[in-house]
Amino acid sequence: MTVDLKTDEELMQEFERKAKEAKEANKSFDNFFFFLKEDEKAVVHPLLNVPQMTLTELLYHEKYDHIAGKMVADHVCAADTKIGMKCKTCQEADFTRDKKLKASPRLFLPVYVHGIYKTGLLGETVAVTAKGDDGVERPVQGVRMLKLKPGGALVDSFKEFYYDSDDRSILTSDFVITRRGSGLDTTYQLTSRKLTPIKEQLAKYTVEKAISDVRLHREEQAVEVPDVDPFEPTDTQGEPSLTVAEALDMKAPTEKQLSSIVSLCKLLDKSYVEPLSFGQAANMLRNLREEYNVTLAEV
Ligand SMILES: [Zn+2]
Repeated sequence: MTVDLKTDEELMQEFERKAKEAKEANKSFDNFFFFLKEDEKAVVHPLLNVPQMTLTELLYHEKYDHIAGKMVADHVCAADTKIGMKCKTCQEADFTRDKKLKASPRLFLPVYVHGIYKTGLLGETVAVTAKGDDGVERPVQGVRMLKLKPGGALVDSFKEFYYDSDDRSILTSDFVITRRGSGLDTTYQLTSRKLTPIKEQLAKYTVEKAISDVRLHREEQAVEVPDVDPFEPTDTQGEPSLTVAEALDMKAPTEKQLSSIVSLCKLLDKSYVEPLSFGQAANMLRNLREEYNVTLAEV
């Protein structure tokens, strides 16, 4: 019997390589959202009708970092009225004044994907494959979630098919979605097609299930809100004690609150950006305090 002798260094290298592979594999295992690359087309069957789809609207954070080559935000906004919590990413967008990080509304349409196709080098039709949960590469098929912009071309097309149909339903036909172009020039085209039976047993989709599926896969990031005044209780001038929610509704920070932030920034050697609203001031102050675990009493 021979024993494969490896040095500690070799063992560790192998260990790191395996860990890295597992991490990357995990990323490609996420087959939740529907996704098409340039010049691909998908044959899909909607699992919710258009009126129900309009009820799935949620605020969503979606920011792609071109330098890092990855999504830096890709989740439901906790501040959506359906959820009603304070959102970490909204705070960050406010704090950094990053417009691209702000949430915007999206609609969600669950679809059954019969297949995704592209044209091969010889003009033949090729089925697009993806890794499944088991890591095995096979043709794309199954339930996926379409994430749509409310005023976008695909939503408009689905609406047209809905109004034009005899039975006011998009559930009685299949559709072909074609993606052309990339980046800002991306366009999607929708055509209808006769129904192909689905062999799998599918869960029945409702508005609630669509929303909870999205939240499950792209969970919102809520802030734990202390139910105390974001600004320390004031001394003699008798400024009203505020809850965070009340503070966020107010327009502008007061002189006193601004000077608290300036002092805190100085103390912590942080650069100072003037907050535009009372809400931003409250968030900044709370972030500074939490990050450095200090109170105004120490200023
Ligand atoms: Zn948010």
